[in-house]
Amino acid sequence: MIKETKSTCCYCGVGCGVIISSQNDKIIDIKGDPNHPANFGRLCTKGATLHLTAKLDNRLLYPEMRLTREATRKRVSWDDSLNYLTEQFAQTIEKHGPDSVAFYISGQLLTEDYYVFNKLAKGLIGTNNVDTNSRLCMSSAVTGYKATLGSDAPPACYEDIDSTECLFITGSNTAFAHPIIFRRIEDAKKNNPNLKIIVVDPRRTDTAQAADLHLAILPGTDVALYNGMLHVLLWEGMLDMAFINAHTNGFDALKDTVREYTPKMVADICGIKEADIITAAKWFGKGPSLSMYCMGLNQSIHGTDKNAALINLHLATGQIGKLGAGPFSLTGQPNAMGGREVGGMANLLSAHRDLANPEHRAEVAKFWGVESVPATPGKTAIEMFDAVKDGSIKAIWIACTNPAHSMPDVNNVIAALQNAELVVVQDAYNNIDTNQYADVLLPASTWGEKEGSVTNTERRITRVNPAVSKPAEARHDWAIMVDFAQRLEKRLAKSSNLFPYTTTEEIFNEHRETTRGRDLDITGLSYGLLNEQGPQQWPFKAGDTTGAARLYTDGVFQKPDGKAQFVNAIYKGTADKTDARHPLHLLTGRLRDQWHGMSRTGTVAQLFNHAEEPVIQMSADDMMRRSIKNGDIVKVSNKRGSLVLAAQLSDEVQASQTFIAMHWGSQFMHGLGVNALMPPTFDKTSKQPELKHTAIKIEKL
Ligand code: SF4
Repeated sequence: MIKETKSTCCYCGVGCGVIISSQNDKIIDIKGDPNHPANFGRLCTKGATLHLTAKLDNRLLYPEMRLTREATRKRVSWDDSLNYLTEQFAQTIEKHGPDSVAFYISGQLLTEDYYVFNKLAKGLIGTNNVDTNSRLCMSSAVTGYKATLGSDAPPACYEDIDSTECLFITGSNTAFAHPIIFRRIEDAKKNNPNLKIIVVDPRRTDTAQAADLHLAILPGTDVALYNGMLHVLLWEGMLDMAFINAHTNGFDALKDTVREYTPKMVADICGIKEADIITAAKWFGKGPSLSMYCMGLNQSIHGTDKNAALINLHLATGQIGKLGAGPFSLTGQPNAMGGREVGGMANLLSAHRDLANPEHRAEVAKFWGVESVPATPGKTAIEMFDAVKDGSIKAIWIACTNPAHSMPDVNNVIAALQNAELVVVQDAYNNIDTNQYADVLLPASTWGEKEGSVTNTERRITRVNPAVSKPAEARHDWAIMVDFAQRLEKRLAKSSNLFPYTTTEEIFNEHRETTRGRDLDITGLSYGLLNEQGPQQWPFKAGDTTGAARLYTDGVFQKPDGKAQFVNAIYKGTADKTDARHPLHLLTGRLRDQWHGMSRTGTVAQLFNHAEEPVIQMSADDMMRRSIKNGDIVKVSNKRGSLVLAAQLSDEVQASQTFIAMHWGSQFMHGLGVNALMPPTFDKTSKQPELKHTAIKIEKL
């Protein structure tokens, strides 16, 4: 008999609902869930082929362990591996203190998994060294929201796409990275031909090709553009002064700054036409305007400023909290939102509480029934691997992510993993680069097998359900951590019984209670309600019958005086500059049909039809200057590393700019992937690294 199970797609932050067909405990097919408000039955190529990834040949099935680096890992029992890890972690903590251990986790974990990791680190061990690959993804969006609106909460929703008159897409190739949102944009344009679509991107991506106005700015010049648009709006008298006066602070200081950003000056900085800046500003000012943005803004050493400068435009025109208007960050990973909600990062606490706030620390400690939550901020992603490299972190536990592929300056991360006293990798797959550095390898369950919940880009929580059993000895991420935590509690002689969970529902219910009275209050939700009434947006307080489609409809923001704050952002430029030795810009981004490091999508033949192999895209001008022809093999290098791959002529990149997709790793090319070339420098507020840009040279081989 064929069984149908409702769940979600495990790839991007659109959070599409799926219906998984299974038979004899095997996944055999997938279709979009027609009732899920994120996709109404649609799936992109990645989602529609998920069932083809449900196979065993690339799975980790048993725990493995080695006692020395020279030894080969051998299969061991769960008891042996977890007892060993308990003893090793306990000894390290006793000898070197709680901050000598760390957990590096993932925006692909479910909310319940995340909750246990966070509580284990901060509540039991007493370290804030728990960070996640969401640091590489959304942390500048978080700091941008908090600086301006006071809370890490995307104010808009997918419905706003249907009603906006100006869609401002910036730093996002939505057509490839969030395809189902892009389908909705195409529908909105069809239904309303007057809808203006502006795309800001150095590349002429598929998204840019669909735009009414493409602003092909030079890499990293976003803040100059947004300030220039604000200058025009000011000059044209298109600001909403009533909104500014009633609901914001800091406009006068920003006004003084943007006076300098004349269209002429901005055109020179950004490499675009003055007239186009004026057109974009006027379309935006007329509104209602919806901004959609992603890694082009976030993965930058000035990511917080880029986010804030964009939100400034919405505040200055009063285009927020209204139908079809608002800033709307597109979440990269499927559950980067859920991870932030449980506070699963080095500087956050449960339910959007702030680690730096003593009252928040006390609230969480009381909630968990522990003496205190440590005040010292944990190490964020880059800092964490630097600390592993310099020996101050001795043991690192990595779950559901592949830092030996995804971190910038990958060679530095590999050196760190080689230097660590203990590396634990918990993952579903046997084909990821990080596994080779693991002393202990723990097999986890994955999509189609797991249960819990996720939150998508528009704050919508959906239940994730298992269609089939987990294979061999694989275990659920939350269950592995609960088992380890219980053993560690005993070994450290702590009798608090912090981890009594036997189901994900118990974890969800505990998380739910932490949100009471917070901006993301979900005290009105339960597994039962989500199962019966379907996915819901937060906040959804006890007694509510629906969640909030959009936030700040009353003009009251999450700042102490209820007013939003303009941020005086100034244009600064990229971390790496081109020079005589490295004369070309290298940009990174996604392919349409691949996901992250390809551990899952790389096993499906048809997903290579769109892009068969790694290439560096170059302009005709740059190829001609170097006598490079289409398909020639070239060496791409800078001071951090080199890659060897084929050159591809492309009219999507401008002269002096090149592009390599982020997905290809050492399995597909000579070299560690494009992130090996990227600078390990990061935004000082969000600590998010600049993974979108570096300077390179190219030699024909
Ligand atoms: Fe999955 Fe994202 Fe595609 Fe939806 S848009 S099917 S969530 S990859």
